[in-house]
Amino acid sequence: MSNVGKVYLVGGGPGDPGLITVKGTEALRAADVVVYDRLIDPRLLSYAPPRAERIYVGKQSARHTLRQEEINALLVERAQAGQTVVRLKGGDPFVFGRGGEEAETLREAGIPFEVVPGVTSAIAAATYAGIPVTHRGVTSSLAVITGHEDPTKEASSLHLEGLATAAGTLVFLMGVENLPTLVGELLRHGRSPQTPVALVRWGTWPQQETVTGTLGDIVDTLAAREQPFGAPAVIVVGEVVALRERLRWFDNRPLWGKRVLITRSRDQAGRLAHLLAEQGADPIEVPAIAIAPPDDPGPLDDALGRIREYTWVVFTSVNGVAGVFARLEAQGRDARALAGVRVCAIGPATAASLRERGIRPDFVPDAFLTREVAKGLADLGVAGKRVLLPRTDIVGEDLAGALYEAGAAVDQVVAYRTLPAQEIDPEVREQLRAGAIDLVTFTSSSTVRNLVSLLGDDRAVLERCTIASIGPITTRTAHELGLRVEIEAQEHTVPGLMRAILEHVAR
Ligand code: SAH
Repeated sequence: MSNVGKVYLVGGGPGDPGLITVKGTEALRAADVVVYDRLIDPRLLSYAPPRAERIYVGKQSARHTLRQEEINALLVERAQAGQTVVRLKGGDPFVFGRGGEEAETLREAGIPFEVVPGVTSAIAAATYAGIPVTHRGVTSSLAVITGHEDPTKEASSLHLEGLATAAGTLVFLMGVENLPTLVGELLRHGRSPQTPVALVRWGTWPQQETVTGTLGDIVDTLAAREQPFGAPAVIVVGEVVALRERLRWFDNRPLWGKRVLITRSRDQAGRLAHLLAEQGADPIEVPAIAIAPPDDPGPLDDALGRIREYTWVVFTSVNGVAGVFARLEAQGRDARALAGVRVCAIGPATAASLRERGIRPDFVPDAFLTREVAKGLADLGVAGKRVLLPRTDIVGEDLAGALYEAGAAVDQVVAYRTLPAQEIDPEVREQLRAGAIDLVTFTSSSTVRNLVSLLGDDRAVLERCTIASIGPITTRTAHELGLRVEIEAQEHTVPGLMRAILEHVAR
């Protein structure tokens, strides 16, 4: 067994994909195979290389034991085959995660392993509900307890007589189904009916939900709800729960509970999704457009080969920058190829992506409208000069035309293709039909066109959403397609769009 692999038992955290550890992501990056549970956000899986195999072993509660044995066997088998295995588990692997059993199995099989702790839901769900599990002057101890009853036993298997009053804060995992029994036991063993209680389900997720009460009334409160309050949930018992009133921070942000559809190409969706999530929204990314390399890179290669003949290169998008640098790379060249050529970047994101590649743009127009750009370049003496315009395959000739009018000799070359995405996720379509999406964002005309075409006969569902546009050109396209735009950004950037959305919500 000289080439035996290794198993990493990795805690993926409670839900919010930002709560995995750096070490956990490093293990994922090195994985040949990822064996993951239910309640793992798909975004965590994307840390693993595309070639890595992903095996879902989400447990059904029936046949529990057998499944665990199968998982253990799988880990051993893969490691013996020489693979690097990441066993990705919710929360912390050793907090009611059966990670200890997996580690024992690995030890017995002589397989090297490492355990990467995770942020446990026992603490994080409370934290995201604004409840510190300990607090100076309120509670100095914390007990984490399973609320799961052994179904084979007739009498209650929860032995809370010692625990009920032993710690100031009690956190129960796997306990919502047993809430009445749990509460009964705590009261019977001396905890006051006035003790504050919080139930937090889907802690740290966009659908987090919290119900508070006291030991005396929480069972009735829950029974009176229309919607059942199901797992995954933690039960927090203790005086610290009262701090939520003052310390609530997560589920009271401006866009909390709002589902926002982002129609952008995959590579650019991240920024907007991040900003929206920061404000409490649940961003849903629909890749309405996909970016692809040009069909024929010949003309771009050719232009880059003669780059010194140009006075200006005008980059209109991040994708254009990426496309040009991909070809330079393919030619064995780098940013120095642009030495001596003046560079114009349209939009701050385009400028930033040039700076990342070591190019400080000579000109970044204040406004990104065609005529502003052309006028700015005219002021800089573009007349009579040769200009290279790397662009996508479908945009209009607007900018080229305006530069031409300003007296420049413009060469347009295709640096990337913008393709319509082929289909929309059926789940997203369903949510739109059900009116479950509050806001739809458009960051370019092509995102409007593509979403409308993706929806096909369902396009009328967009009438049920508030539509936010990045600027007048995008808005015009939306109007042409019969959509009503309620929000338009003043500054035509992703942060500008964010600001417009927040202002709209505040009104
Ligand atoms: N190892 C995990 C716990 C696994 S047991 C951890 O450290 O978090 C599964 C139980 O964890 C669920 O029944 C529920 O009580 C709790 N749980 C897991 N994720 C949760 C979440 N996001 N919000 C609330 N409770 C959660």
